Amino acid sequence: MREELQMYVNGEYRDPGSDEWFPSVNPYTGEEVVKVGRGTADIVNEAVSAAHKAVFEDHWGGLTPTERGQYLLDLADELESRAKKHAELEVRENGKPISGVLNQHRSIPDWFRYYAGLADKVQGDTIEPSQEGMHVYTKPAPVGVVAAITPWNSPLMLATWKLAPALAAGNAVVLKPDEHTSASTIAFAEAVDEVGFPNGVVNVVTGLGEEVGSQLVSHDRVDKVSFTGGTNTGSYVAKQAAEALTPSMMELGGKSPHLVFPDADLDSAIEDALWGIFGASGQSCSAGSRLLLHEDIVDEFVPRLIEHARDIQMGDPLDPSTEMGPLASKEQVERVRRYVKTGNEEGATLVYGGETTSEGQSNLFFEPTIFTDVDNGSRLAQEEIFGPVLAIIKFSSEEEAVKLSNDVDFGLAAGLWTENIRRAHRMADQIRAGRIWINHYKNSDYTAPQGGFKSSGWGRENGIEGLKEFLATKTVWLATDRNEEGGNR
Ligand code: NAD
Repeated sequence: MREELQMYVNGEYRDPGSDEWFPSVNPYTGEEVVKVGRGTADIVNEAVSAAHKAVFEDHWGGLTPTERGQYLLDLADELESRAKKHAELEVRENGKPISGVLNQHRSIPDWFRYYAGLADKVQGDTIEPSQEGMHVYTKPAPVGVVAAITPWNSPLMLATWKLAPALAAGNAVVLKPDEHTSASTIAFAEAVDEVGFPNGVVNVVTGLGEEVGSQLVSHDRVDKVSFTGGTNTGSYVAKQAAEALTPSMMELGGKSPHLVFPDADLDSAIEDALWGIFGASGQSCSAGSRLLLHEDIVDEFVPRLIEHARDIQMGDPLDPSTEMGPLASKEQVERVRRYVKTGNEEGATLVYGGETTSEGQSNLFFEPTIFTDVDNGSRLAQEEIFGPVLAIIKFSSEEEAVKLSNDVDFGLAAGLWTENIRRAHRMADQIRAGRIWINHYKNSDYTAPQGGFKSSGWGRENGIEGLKEFLATKTVWLATDRNEEGGNR
């Protein structure tokens, strides 16, 4: 890969319009990884215009849905052969352990294959209207130009959740990765180029969120904004899209409850509680950051959890045996540190961790950190930290567990452990979250929709619902019984 990342617009590699570059930095070594192009309004305009032409004038090259699906199948094969390279590029920029990142990249082709299969299964309905002499049917149409904006924690996986269904539905996409992690997305564009997608169908622009991201979201030829990122940014982006009267879908942050009842398989619950929060050093939207334990098991559960936390192997994220890597940036370390201080001030009990550690050259490692006696109303329990900090909260009844689970602004995910099947379904009915895992934590795949309630966002990604986000219904009314004088027969 070149040291300077070019953008990919209308089938061509391009330098940034402003001719400016900024570095992305390896959070483990502190070294520069690549130079990223600082895109401008001009390049956004070119990318959106190319995408608009690809959908509305070239109709994606006049392809049938089956042919479109074939492009996605070819892309899946291409991505399969590049999985390791893409995973390593991401690890160098975001510091997540390679084992998990590689698994993600090995599964990305499956998303493209799934949506390739759906491309020619998009169907409308015929409708029996109340009026006679009318033939009415619906025809799902691509929404048009999709602006896809992704965060740094899983750049290509999250881009895939947007691109695969958007392209299968016949749209064109302008993709903007986070400024800290653009390398894998540009490498993805190389795969698109290799497959030979028609020009303008996939475009990648890079640069700062408040510049190139903002210009993209408010562009008047963008037909749908699909955003994944933090709740504050999401709120701002949604306002910008609304001002341009552009529909949006928002995949935002979380503060997910992870509940354990006394009848649970505690060995498995401890393991998943541990990785539910400390996997990716807590830098995951669906991190199980609030552990809700029944009062009868707290005394057994917490010491066993701490024992496991002690064994977590921290180190070089490119080493396959590493279980926890560095945090993504100095700002992130400071943020986590502030929350630890807040937790102490709020009266929670710090039972493990709470400090940075000296691994790596960049000093961005933070210990797995566990607080007990957390009040659900405290900031530690209410705000997304996006770091390795677990807040443990006690409950004594099912009713209280539901109340605690829902008493938060977010509603992205929830986990619950019980062997009582009736209780499991009762809880799943009452918890307001886009994904609810029973007796495991954090599974997801291309077949099953996911998204948020409340401040965790709106819209659904993955599954058939994920495809429908990128289709708009046209209704066609045909007068079958109109005579030549203009009246009905
Ligand atoms: P972020 O909100 O800072 O940035 C996300 C993206 O928005 C980046 O590409 C950024 O450049 C862009 N952006 C910033 N300002 C913008 C603007 N004014 N206009 C347009 N785009 C702009 O988020 P982050 O720190 O990269 O990621 C962490 C957050 O993402 C966490 O809150 C996490 O929970 C959330 N997240 C959610 C999901 C989900 O599926 N719900 C998945 C992963 C991460």
